Amino acid sequence: MATIPHHPFSELKPFLKDKKLSEIALIEKAYHFAKKAHEGQERKNGEPYFNHVFACAKNVAELNMDTHTICAAMLHDVLEDCPQVTEEIFKKEFGDDITFLVHGVTKLGKLKYQGVERHVESLRKFFVAMSKDIRVVIIKLADRLHNIQTLEFVKKEKQKRIALETLEIHARLADRLGIAKLKGELEDYAFPYAYPEDYKEVVKLTHARKREDELYVQKMFKKLKRKLAEEKINNSVSYRVKHLFSLWQKLKRYDMDINKIYDLTAVRIIVDSTDECYRALGVIHKNYRPIPGRIKDYIAVPKPNGYQSLHTTIFTGDGGTVEIQIRTQKMHDEAELGIASHLSYKEVGKENIHKTITKNTTWVQQLTRWQKDIGSHELMDLLKAEVFEKRVFVLTPKGEVIDLPQGATPIDFAYAIHSDVGRHISSAKVNGKIATLSTPLTSSDIVEIETKESAKPSRKWLEYVKTNDARRHIQNFLEGK
Ligand code: MN
Repeated sequence: MATIPHHPFSELKPFLKDKKLSEIALIEKAYHFAKKAHEGQERKNGEPYFNHVFACAKNVAELNMDTHTICAAMLHDVLEDCPQVTEEIFKKEFGDDITFLVHGVTKLGKLKYQGVERHVESLRKFFVAMSKDIRVVIIKLADRLHNIQTLEFVKKEKQKRIALETLEIHARLADRLGIAKLKGELEDYAFPYAYPEDYKEVVKLTHARKREDELYVQKMFKKLKRKLAEEKINNSVSYRVKHLFSLWQKLKRYDMDINKIYDLTAVRIIVDSTDECYRALGVIHKNYRPIPGRIKDYIAVPKPNGYQSLHTTIFTGDGGTVEIQIRTQKMHDEAELGIASHLSYKEVGKENIHKTITKNTTWVQQLTRWQKDIGSHELMDLLKAEVFEKRVFVLTPKGEVIDLPQGATPIDFAYAIHSDVGRHISSAKVNGKIATLSTPLTSSDIVEIETKESAKPSRKWLEYVKTNDARRHIQNFLEGK
């Protein structure tokens, strides 16, 4: 067999544009270290084993993660699979933080699936890992993504089980963390192995439509860019085809009728500011007739998961319709990268942000505590109720992330910070603007609470709160406790 070459370091570079030279040097060191350590090891298809860890690091880099996380991804199998590398050597080369991350990934275990008990067991491990450092989980999801991308080389009888586990655990966790990009990719690679018949049907259904859509899109592409430029709106226009697995979920709600799906292909316009989002919408409607009832302002009214964008579906003028999504880069990052976009926030103190996320993700803490004493079935029920219920991640002005249930208000936020802050709220600002205390918060809102010694809770507040913690404190206060 001809030797399959190692991936060159240059393949990673496009994803390291924001990194300092010293950070790139550290990643390159990890690259060479991993390459040497895995020398002679092969994957099932005869490829160098190194190519797997490289792909994992690349998946992590694409999520715009910090340098240590990228290094740990590159080195994630070194401690377990390369006996010549002792922990002592490793720590000396890469320091405590990267060593900690690699250990965390190792503890999550290798690819295997053995029925419901194992399934619950791997979830338990995930929670323990998450409660320590969320970056470990992100590496593991990136690792799984490459494993599922190369599932064809795994024994047939194992493929389906691994694919199902990926859909039930990994994709749902990615979704839960708001990382739409990872979720979509995990699902699409698992789909053909998990549900082969349905997969074939969806591919068949979309085949003709996709080609048609692409023709329409390509025709309007240039004109759209030109018209926006004429109005001096700095923009980048691209288009995306809907992920197949999520399309299948949607088709099931529409009697498998592909003609009822408007967003199979969507054009995406990224502009510099919220203001320009609305101006761009104006430019589009001036040039193309919109379909009534399909104009959606998710900027003024974000989706419950925090998603922001303007959507409109227009007639292309030659018989087609195309959905257009307009947003800023920040809205785009938040939509695609979720919690990972907070991890790479520069403006809010990067060093500690993963720790603050972990500290404040209460559902992770609760589950870690509870999972010690409860059985598998109860854990599954708990999961459905707590983990996969939608939550919002809200930021303090210092960039600390507070994890709250959907529908939570500035009052819940204040009590989550400290009961004294809750008790003395005088007013709240959301994203710099004064907001009422009943305003539902959405992910990535920056919330500021003003307190006054004389301010105190009122009975009305009980209608506004979503968390038990805030409710209990308010009740205690009202009862004079
Ligand atoms: Mn691996």
